[in-house]
Amino acid sequence: MTLELDVLVIDDALETLAVAAQQLELLKISSIRTAASGAAAIAASLERPPELVLLDLSMPEMDGLEVIAALAAVAAGAKVCVMTGADESVAQTTGRIVQDYGLHFAGTLAKPFRFAELRAIVQQAAAGARSVARPQEVPLSAEESWRLLRQGALQLHYQPKVRLRDGVMVGVECLARLQHPERGLLPPALFIPAIEASAEAGDFTALVADGAMAQQAAWRAQGLRVCVSINIPSDTLHDRLLVQLLAGTAARHGIDPADITLEVTETRIMSDVRGSLETLTRLRLKGFGIAIDDFGVGSSTLKQLREIPCTEIKIDRMFVHRAAGDRQAQAILASSIALGHELGLQVVAEGVETSADRDGLAALGCDLMQGYYCGRPMEASTLPGWLDLPRAS
Ligand code: C2E
Ligand code: CA
Ligand code: CA
Repeated sequence: MTLELDVLVIDDALETLAVAAQQLELLKISSIRTAASGAAAIAASLERPPELVLLDLSMPEMDGLEVIAALAAVAAGAKVCVMTGADESVAQTTGRIVQDYGLHFAGTLAKPFRFAELRAIVQQAAAGARSVARPQEVPLSAEESWRLLRQGALQLHYQPKVRLRDGVMVGVECLARLQHPERGLLPPALFIPAIEASAEAGDFTALVADGAMAQQAAWRAQGLRVCVSINIPSDTLHDRLLVQLLAGTAARHGIDPADITLEVTETRIMSDVRGSLETLTRLRLKGFGIAIDDFGVGSSTLKQLREIPCTEIKIDRMFVHRAAGDRQAQAILASSIALGHELGLQVVAEGVETSADRDGLAALGCDLMQGYYCGRPMEASTLPGWLDLPRAS
């Protein structure tokens, strides 16, 4: 009897892929796919989100943790089983991270694993597998996203960045949503991966930047000066027109580039250092702030980090929320804050959800925090009222 389950095995070791595929065939799994790199896994998930992922933790280029972060966006609801040669504590930490990203943890397989161990994981996953992906979770294609974007479906929400020292809001991060006529407000995970993979990624950045800076100008007209952070897909850093585009948009809205921070992810900068560095340097010369987003997920060296003309690092939430109870997360958090300060950068922690998260950051001397504890992403019109509310710093 075939077992209705869509399994994706991700490992750079081809022999592991071959062995796993063979064993899954013996188990009569209905869909078996393999990916030899994180990028191939994301591409496969975009095509069809898998139900069960068997993930190797250590891979070159994109390691297991980066793949988890990316899978959260393209395979929401998937079960993730971690394959590792490392010790049990690493696997347990990863299990927590998998759950923090909204994925389901399906256990660990220590390599080399036995057939019976794989069978147990697979049977358990199949028993609880969702029969069909909930319509809510199906990502849009780039074409469909653009059709809606052209109809004005883009909505920008803003999440406060708050200074730990005194609880003052110093800026907001602009986060895109898409208003779908039937499905309601869609999160970026359902449309941004496809747009970023398409040729029109730059057009999307232009649309977001224009909306965010128009909003910033409108707030200023109300007497509210807020710095705005905008996410920039790293692939567009190779676009020679990006600098002109952003500088032009700022000028058109009368915005000082110093009041804008561009957030780029560390991992992709590192994969093409030279092209990205040139664009980042030119943006910096125009006066824009540059933040390294999701810091800690990649594996940049100190030397590489010093070469990036950045003004801020944003520590990824996997090292922030509940870090106090996790020695490894705590160590990464402490050393990232120290490193950022050593380099003269502003350090922001994202994913602050509890007062314990906040207290831990304050003790480590972190500068700014962002997360549900301070404020959820909100509509622009809500922000002035939110600012008037009394709140804990
Ligand atoms: P990001 O840049 O890391 O943005 C932070 C994400 O964490 C946001 O999710 C935010 O809502 C969420 N978040 C904030 N505080 C908390 C918290 O305390 N706990 C938890 N669990 N999550 C928190 P969102 O809005 O779904 O955005 C997801 C990702 O989509 C962003 O990750 C960013 O990479 C991308 N994105 C969003 N807007 C844009 C955009 O305009 N352009 C591009 N290129 N990417 C965007
Ligand atoms: Ca960001
Ligand atoms: Ca981030």
